[in-house]
Order: sequence, then C-alpha cells, then structure tokens
Amino acid sequence: MFNLTGKIAFISGGTKGIGKGIAKVLKQAGAITIIAGTDKIKGEQVAKELDVDFISLDVTDQAACKNAIDKVVEKYGRLDILCSNAGIFPQHYLKDMTAEEWELVHSVNLKGTFFLVQAALLVMEQQRYGRVVITSSITGEITGLAGYSHYGASKAGQLGFMRSAALEYAGQGITINAVMPGMIMTEGLQAFGDDFLNNVKETTPMRALGTPEDIGHAACFLASDEAKYITGQTIVVDGGQILPEV
Ligand code: NAP
Repeated sequence: MFNLTGKIAFISGGTKGIGKGIAKVLKQAGAITIIAGTDKIKGEQVAKELDVDFISLDVTDQAACKNAIDKVVEKYGRLDILCSNAGIFPQHYLKDMTAEEWELVHSVNLKGTFFLVQAALLVMEQQRYGRVVITSSITGEITGLAGYSHYGASKAGQLGFMRSAALEYAGQGITINAVMPGMIMTEGLQAFGDDFLNNVKETTPMRALGTPEDIGHAACFLASDEAKYITGQTIVVDGGQILPEV
C-alpha cells in the first residue's frame, strides 16, 4: 500500500459507497481523513465508524465548498488530497427528461466538482503541493447506459474539466487525475435492482461487481507522492467491463 502518513485528505461523498471506500483506504494508508456529505446524521455515524472527521456539505453551493476547505485548513493547517467523489445517478429517459432533472445531475456531478476543486486549488497553489482525484465513470467517456444521458454527459464533462485544469496547475506540484469505475456495489447502485445487477455480474469478464475499496486503492495510488509525474490521466477500474468486442 502507498504511504499517506500525515497527509490531509478530504473526500466529498465520503459518507457512503465509493467515497466511504476511498476514505477507508486513505485512512489505512495513514492519511488524516475528512469526509463530507449532505446527510449530517449519517455522516457523523460513518465518521465515528471510520474514525475520521465529518463536514456537512452540499457541493452545489459554491460558498459552502470554499467554507468546507477553509475549515479543513483552519483545523489541520493544509490540504494535501482532494477526492471529488460526490455524485448522483437518477434514471430519466431522454424523451421525458426535464430541464430540472438535467440541471440537478449536472449541478451535483459537474458543477460540484468545479466548485470543490477550485476551492482546493486555492490552498494547494499556496502549498505548491496537491493531489486531486475525481471519481468519474466509464459511462459517458467510454460507454452509454439507457436512461443516463444526463449522467453520461456530466461524467464525460468531469474529464474534460480535469484535462484543462491539470494543465493549468502542472508546474506547481499539483496533479489532477480521475478514476473511472465500472459497476461498483454501493448503496446508490442498489436502486438498479437485483435483475440488473445479476446481469452485470454475469456479463462482466471478472464475473463480479467491484467494491468501493477497489476504487479506493486506485485513488490512493493517484494521491501518493509516487504518482507525482502523472497528471490529467484516468484509471479504469471495471473488472474488464469495457473490453469485450461483442
Ligand atoms: P452513493 O452510494 O449514492 O453515494 C453518493 C455519495 O455522494 C454519498 O456520500 C452522498 O452523501 C454524496 N452526495 C450526493 N449528493 C451530494 C451533494 N449535493 N453534496 C455532497 N455530497 C453529495 O453513490 P456511489 O455509487 O458511491 O457513487 C459515488 C461516485 O462514484 C459518484 O460520483 C458516481 O457517479 C461515481 N460512480 C459510481 C459507480 C457505481 O457503480 N457505483 C460507477 C461509476 C461512477 P449524502 O447522501 O450525505 O448527500
């Protein structure tokens, strides 16, 4: 495991699913870890369970993102690692999709990433050190999923954002990369139902869904000092899901 001893790591959407998996792995690697989400009760429970800190945050609020990062710096003196992971994936077929449904998905997944990464970079720039790891998806950039055109657009959008942001900060000791998960068993994914999930399991080359910790380990690598020469890149973690030609 990569060593993150003493690093300060902030994980949005760290109260459940993939974000909780990332928090567990980063904490095991030695990072002082702070998780964030909108559900204060659940957040505080999970923070206790993982022995990490919790900050209540809605990533669609730009001022709140700035405040959350400022709170971390006030308490811990710096911010080394930001995992921008909070995201939603409600199903809406295109023929009935409203502007509000489109807007909400973009607001949390894409605008929320912009707000939080921007706030973190203000601090990282002063430190001349930082690791940003965005949780994107194979959906959008590589694959499509019926009912998720808004989601796919937001996830591909995160990668477009990441590449230009990485260039802006490449000379300052700051890297900005993304993990692209396939189907990972989380609280959020349960809404897809058993039939769908069993079908994914049967058709994925590794015959299993991923675990949140599988994403955590990829994030841990990108957050490590050893990944210092990697920026603007992605790691697909999908059990081979995107490989089959037919
Ligand atoms: P999940 O189990 O539903 O967890 C989502 C997390 O995001 C929760 O901690 C939630 O906290 C937080 N969140 C949602 N809206 C928020 C907001 N407005 N502000 C702050 N936090 C917010 O979902 P997941 O499956 O772990 O997905 C996490 C990320 O991985 C998402 O970006 C998703 O697109 C991506 N992803 C997931 C999969 C998969 O198969 N699971 C595949 C590819 C990519 P609260 O409930 O407290 O708000």
